[in-house]
Amino acid sequence: MHDLGIGCGGSGWQLKAACRGPQAWAFFPPSRPERKAEKLDREKEAKAICATCGVRKDCLAYALRIHEPYGIWGGMNEAERGQMMGGKVAG
Ligand code: SF4
Repeated sequence: MHDLGIGCGGSGWQLKAACRGPQAWAFFPPSRPERKAEKLDREKEAKAICATCGVRKDCLAYALRIHEPYGIWGGMNEAERGQMMGGKVAG
């Protein structure tokens, strides 16, 4: 899951995450300001990786459980997860 040291460490389903490695940059916003078009392109790339991931359900369940406020998890961005949670996820 992203290999950014955020969240859940490296055991279980995380070891099977399709986002491990150099493509991890696509899953979180950069440290500099990001234009809307850049965000959409970045998220599209991340979601395409998620679409191939065998642990997508586990990943999304984890992000929802911890109310992860940032990034793409389980193929969903923070706003989409927030909608699933009835607005309980920040972002
Ligand atoms: S669903 Fe996406 S964010 Fe989650 S582990 Fe798979 S590739 Fe990474």
